[in-house]
Amino acid sequence: SSVVGIDVGNASSKIGVARARGVDVIANEVSNRATPSLVSFGQKARALGEAAATAQTSNFKNTIGSLKRLVGRTFQDPEVQKVEKNFINAELVDAKGEVGVKVRLAGEEQTFSATQLLAMYLVKLRDTTSKELGGAGVSDVVLSTPLWFTDAQRRAYLDAAEIAGLNPLRLLNDTTATALGYGITKTDLPEADNPRNVVFCDIGHSSYQVAVVSFSKGQLTVLGTAADRNFGGRDFDRALLQHFAEEFKGKYKIDVLSSPKATFRLAAGCERLKKVLSANALAPLNVENLMEDIDASSQLKREEFEQLISPLLERINVPLEAALAQSGLSKDQIHSIEMVGGSSRVPALKERISAFFGKPLSFTSNQDEAVARGCTLACAVLSPVFKVREFSIHDATPYSIKVTWDKAADVPDEDTELVVFQPNNPIPSTKILTFYRKENFDLEAHYAAPDQIPEGINPWIGKFSIKGVTPNAEGDHSIVKVKARLNLHGVLNFESAYTVEEVEKEEEVPVAADPAAMDTDGDKDAAAAPKTEVRKVKKLQRKADLSIVSGFTGGKDASVVSEMKEVEGQLYSNDKLVIDTEDRKNALEEMIYDQRSKLDDRYKLFVTAEEKEKYLAALNAQEEWLYSDEGEDATKSAYVERIDSLQKIGGPIQFREKEFQERPRAASALREAI
Ligand code: ATP
Ligand code: MG
Repeated sequence: SSVVGIDVGNASSKIGVARARGVDVIANEVSNRATPSLVSFGQKARALGEAAATAQTSNFKNTIGSLKRLVGRTFQDPEVQKVEKNFINAELVDAKGEVGVKVRLAGEEQTFSATQLLAMYLVKLRDTTSKELGGAGVSDVVLSTPLWFTDAQRRAYLDAAEIAGLNPLRLLNDTTATALGYGITKTDLPEADNPRNVVFCDIGHSSYQVAVVSFSKGQLTVLGTAADRNFGGRDFDRALLQHFAEEFKGKYKIDVLSSPKATFRLAAGCERLKKVLSANALAPLNVENLMEDIDASSQLKREEFEQLISPLLERINVPLEAALAQSGLSKDQIHSIEMVGGSSRVPALKERISAFFGKPLSFTSNQDEAVARGCTLACAVLSPVFKVREFSIHDATPYSIKVTWDKAADVPDEDTELVVFQPNNPIPSTKILTFYRKENFDLEAHYAAPDQIPEGINPWIGKFSIKGVTPNAEGDHSIVKVKARLNLHGVLNFESAYTVEEVEKEEEVPVAADPAAMDTDGDKDAAAAPKTEVRKVKKLQRKADLSIVSGFTGGKDASVVSEMKEVEGQLYSNDKLVIDTEDRKNALEEMIYDQRSKLDDRYKLFVTAEEKEKYLAALNAQEEWLYSDEGEDATKSAYVERIDSLQKIGGPIQFREKEFQERPRAASALREAI
């Protein structure tokens, strides 16, 4: 099986594959190493990735991006309504509890949930990868997620991956992926007692993430994280868009923002200008035929750009301070600051981050591909296919999680809640909770600080009903242990529950050493052979397993996921049929032109006048059909039949011609052989 890591970016995604000599970031069908994160619905089929970017200009209403920002959210989510809507032209709707889009596909109005949209796109990335690997199946994968993703968003990612036929070995935080890529290649990492502390800043298309990570030989530990969820390249583009739209109202008397097409054109121009401003003090803006036949032009100074984005720039220190505070480190304990993400090229951001730490920044990781490389390495670590250098990843969860329950009537002084995972708790990790119960009970998990998670995400994570609890042999409370686990994906589960019993056992126990004897000498021989004696001790012993019935806010029921998988399968084969049909149509057209021209040329000596006339007539008839309404939009088999019928007439002619061409060659081959 293959070893694959995918950085699912909001603007574009990058795919890494592990090979014997290392990790390669692969190119897609148009030789780009980044594939636009877009899905588009056409008159016959879907267009995904590059094809969606091409289709977008003429099909705004049915093209959608922001895939990762929508999954696991509701239609009413204020961040969806206030933020995401600004970047989406398709009609957002409620799709059975999750936000989705209403689009036209093959002439029919259809609704797809955000999870389905992400799955469609992942299928495309899967196919791109499979093609690169010579048609090999692609299943095991590590996918990147923003570090600020909640349980519901992570579950939606896992659902999307399953619908796409992928098997995510791990969801890995963007910054942790970059940190892994950084650490695993370093041969000079210090010992654990004196670790190297590195800050990773990832400023991408839609968010800005910071992680403070300590490195020592063979391991990394995430010490602190923070993020600004709505801070990235798209916000800079939008500030520019608004600026120029305003300018053009006066200059050209046009309202760009009133037209989606013009808005799209101007936004593309703004992004180009922004990139030029990263390397130049002044940049031109030229947008041909912006609207009403106007070729718009303008220019902007870097200082003016910085003025436009100053409200954003003022927020730059916030995540830096928060992550540093959480890590417990001071600025002077930071070894270096690694910058990644496309927007880390913006000079104003670099200057401010550098000023915050009082240090120059490092750009040793590949800014665009570090996350994909890190995910691929993580996949290699988890997969048996490659032998990778031992490297442990101690990741951390950003949010605290508490568990609540109803007080048992007969257990006095019992608390009714407990913060089980604090912010910065390691991922993965398991915690065991103890309850005294005579009957079944429920646990509920919530984010303990709802103001820290994205605004519209339900802080209620799930409910877990512990079943099969009975009083113990004495009719008293059973001791119930419940295992809560934050797994490799950063997702919460209550994995198992069981009762335990106190039993008395005879056991050899060390006899407490005489303290007076201990501090008089450090005799090692005495310490190596401690005195023991047999005593009765009370021990907890696992007695019976209990069952847990779980219900989550995030993710979809298995039946819904499998239904969506089926829908995806149908859409996929429809797309394939549309492509194959187009391909056969083109083949028929090509055949007609090719054969007709050859009749006057290469076939000349090999056809009788009668044959030629018959073949020409057939070719012309097919051409006429091809350009008729019927031929314009026929089935695949109709094109194939016509190709075959022409081939019946043309075949013997082609055979004669080919034989003639090959005869001298065969003769000379024979001569050489003798
Ligand atoms: P996210 O991490 O937010 O999900 P992403 O991973 O797709 O998104 P990146 O590929 O890291 O994002 O960055 C894309 C952004 O970087 C775009 O907004 C793009 O305009 C911006 N960008 C790329 N090159 C430059 C440059 N030279 N100067 C300024 N911005 C740039
Ligand atoms: Mg990114």
